[in-house]
Amino acid sequence: SPTIGVFALQGDVREHLRALTTLGVDAIGVRRPEELERCHGLIIPGGESTTMFKLARAFDLFEPLQKRIAGGMPTFGTCAGMIMLADRIVDGTSDQETLGGLDITVRRNAFGRQVDSFEGDLAFEGLDGPVHAVFIRAPWVEQVGAEVEVLARVASGPAAGRIVAVRQGSLMATSFHPEVGSDTRIHQAFVDLVSTGDTVVVGKER
Ligand code: GLN
Repeated sequence: SPTIGVFALQGDVREHLRALTTLGVDAIGVRRPEELERCHGLIIPGGESTTMFKLARAFDLFEPLQKRIAGGMPTFGTCAGMIMLADRIVDGTSDQETLGGLDITVRRNAFGRQVDSFEGDLAFEGLDGPVHAVFIRAPWVEQVGAEVEVLARVASGPAAGRIVAVRQGSLMATSFHPEVGSDTRIHQAFVDLVSTGDTVVVGKER
């Protein structure tokens, strides 16, 4: 089975490790370049993207991460992790850089600063039933490039229609937190992407 790392300098690390372990994956926290080298794929969790960026720089992980992502390592960003993978941010702090790779523009804290979190069911491309999505000070995707596949949009409410999950080649991202709760289908889709280079078996019962 593949080794999948979880960026572990900051954020929602433990829940992702648990979801991956449940799926029989060899899951490791990644804090150093040597740990990144062992990984066939990587999850960048939710947390605070400005802090993640600064810590990645401080721990000499930023450039190795950029190289691996540009080199095709399957990478899945959730919430702050989506921001880290985006080529463009609106509403970022002036000195905020991203790892990049996804040809998308994200808006940080897009659902409104006063709205800390909300939840809702949404349809997710390739999955049979709806996903219960938990959003916590989440970004949304304002613009996607031609190579980007939209996997999910908000179903209802003031943000209805907003793009909240995407894929482009070996990169995947969700605005919401699939590691919350016990539904591991989205993690399984990512494990399939790492194992086979595609998410072909998404939604199949196992
Ligand atoms: N608001 C955070 C950021 O901009 C993301 C929140 C999260 O990951 N839950 O980085």
